[in-house]
Amino acid sequence: MTFSTPIGQVPRIGTAYEKKLKKTGITTVRDLLFHFPRTYEDFSKITPIKDLKEGGTYCISGKLLDLKEIRTFKKRMSLITGLVEDASGAVKVLWFNQPYLIDSLKPKDEMYLAGKVLRDKAGIYLSNPIHEKLKEDMEDASLTHLGRIVPVYPETEGMSSRWLRSIIKMVLAQMKEVPETLPEEILHEKKFLPVRQALWQIHFPDSLAEANRATSRFAFEELFYILLFILSERKKIAQVKAPIIPFSAELMKRFTDKLPFHLTDDQKKAAWHILKDMEKPRPMNRLLQGDVGSGKTVVAAMAMLSAVKAGYQAALLAPTEILAQQHHKTVAQVLTPFKITIGLLTGKTDRFISPKLPSDYIEISRSKLLEKVKDNKLQVLIGTHSLIQDKVKFGNLALVVVDEQHRFGVKQRARLLRSATLIPHLLSMTATPIPRTLAMTLYGDLDLSLIIQLPAGRKQIITKIIPPANRPKAYEAIREEIAKGRQAFVICPRIERTEKTPKDTEVKTVREEYEKLSKEVFPDLRVEMLHGKMTTKEKERAMRRFKAGKIDVLVSTSVVEVGVDIPNAAIMMVEGADRFGLAQLHQFRGRVGRAEHQSYCFLFTESNSHTVRARLKALEASTSGFELAERDLAIRGPGDFAGTKQWGLPDFAMHQLTNLELVEQARESAKALLEKDISLKNYPLLREKLADFREKLHLE
Ligand code: ADP
Ligand code: MG
Repeated sequence: MTFSTPIGQVPRIGTAYEKKLKKTGITTVRDLLFHFPRTYEDFSKITPIKDLKEGGTYCISGKLLDLKEIRTFKKRMSLITGLVEDASGAVKVLWFNQPYLIDSLKPKDEMYLAGKVLRDKAGIYLSNPIHEKLKEDMEDASLTHLGRIVPVYPETEGMSSRWLRSIIKMVLAQMKEVPETLPEEILHEKKFLPVRQALWQIHFPDSLAEANRATSRFAFEELFYILLFILSERKKIAQVKAPIIPFSAELMKRFTDKLPFHLTDDQKKAAWHILKDMEKPRPMNRLLQGDVGSGKTVVAAMAMLSAVKAGYQAALLAPTEILAQQHHKTVAQVLTPFKITIGLLTGKTDRFISPKLPSDYIEISRSKLLEKVKDNKLQVLIGTHSLIQDKVKFGNLALVVVDEQHRFGVKQRARLLRSATLIPHLLSMTATPIPRTLAMTLYGDLDLSLIIQLPAGRKQIITKIIPPANRPKAYEAIREEIAKGRQAFVICPRIERTEKTPKDTEVKTVREEYEKLSKEVFPDLRVEMLHGKMTTKEKERAMRRFKAGKIDVLVSTSVVEVGVDIPNAAIMMVEGADRFGLAQLHQFRGRVGRAEHQSYCFLFTESNSHTVRARLKALEASTSGFELAERDLAIRGPGDFAGTKQWGLPDFAMHQLTNLELVEQARESAKALLEKDISLKNYPLLREKLADFREKLHLE
């Protein structure tokens, strides 16, 4: 058995479990061994039976005697009783509703048991304990579930921690050799456990301190790869040339004078950084981070204008078709006064804007469009990922702007070019609030611009959690707003019911909500749908009509998540709010409040769970994406955070991201190693890891 052995080939994992494991993303032995415990339960302390006290939870060890099954006919319950005896005394044990135990337990069995001690008329007893039999050929130390510190795995459907424990233990025992991925000198210097030992200690620790030691090794390792990667990417970039784009204050002034608003100070600062970067002969690699609605697009437009006026081309990549179209329109609006040709290339549509008016676009064939791109006749190309295809070659590309999601490396940038002598500058934009301190550590001051201020005149969005009983009131509020001329979004977690979502589960779907709202709640209003199963034409039409104010209520899936700009929309209703992460909800909320109107965000939830409410309350209390990032981190850890996922970090390492000291250490180690061996010639495993990592981030 090796790390790459498929999970299906592991003994004792049948097809049913194989499926379940795959659903949680575990496909190889490595994935299984790196499925780390969420927490531990300490059953290492064995209490003598004579010391048991009512109300406490204990782990005991002894011999099972007097096993009996009693059926209580009135309650139709199975009851198994027994007596457990150790050197100090004996105690009664009761198992409820586990009739199968009568076959697996045998009198005289030596076993460990753990459970709560309760009292009935006859005295104290151990209630419904978990147990583990001691097999004769086993040492105490090889207990799996009791008599030790026991791993508790993240909750997964149909896979108990007990089952995972046995499987992981068996696999660990069979893995004779585990390749060490960290360089010897780092292991030594940091006093980390070697990988095999660390895997044992993280799953079956001798003590919590050892578990922590193992965890920090793996967390360090993940961070180390990221930093190794970021730093080597940076070194690569420092060795290639980029087009020099002269900064023209006059041009920028003409641009900002034409805007219907004043730039915020943060926007000015970000633009300044970007324009200064592009003056250098090295490719820019800058992250522009700004909350939803903070006005990143206009900053990007300034960079694109600069590039184009210097004789080059610029490309803008959007995560979705709708956003690509929106960018196409808004960028056209601000750039056409400068007589710039702007094209749109998505999976389905190809458009081209003539240099006169934003509305004056013509649809041309894909091949014609690509020809213009190649011949430098098209100055700005906006699109979805279809823009990254091999067929798309730019004649003279100098700037790539990436809006959310796409990750771009040097190679990907080079691929866009017809001739790869120069590498274009890169500006990535994101509303994903990676905690600031962390972003600073990973990117450094040099390559990170933040827009924290929102444009002036924005009203605070009023956010409210709506319990089921207040639904009619919320509908009333929506009706009032619409009467004032506003528009509303209704977001549902699903498009429609499938066989997998039975009728009785409380998941709201676009189709059902649409039916309900259009027929029962707002029969007099214009209600329409938008979701991923509609054709591009249908989606576009819905968006167009909504933008034009021809729809009052748009029932939609999360397709409107990022970036869609409808200034007149003032209400965001989210159904099943508990099914979305805080970051995503914050993104939804960012769809409203983009103009001077008072806006509202209503979060509907049927859940009474305390954590759910705490999470949603955070949203009520704060409108800052950064603050919410920190809070989600505190409430449920960063694993669920929509945006941080794209870093490709496993959950346990995400938790370590708040540990800035560890991040700093990883950075130092990565730097030192690269200085010694830039191409990692002497570290083939590390090189391999890095390649994996690159692939994971879709960089090559
Ligand atoms: P995001 O950062 O979320 O991408 P956008 O670039 O879509 O935000 O901008 C949101 C809205 O704010 C747009 O309608 C844009 O025209 C407007 N906007 C941008 N900057 C300013 C500003 N300084 N003052 C007023 N409105 C602005
Ligand atoms: Mg945007």
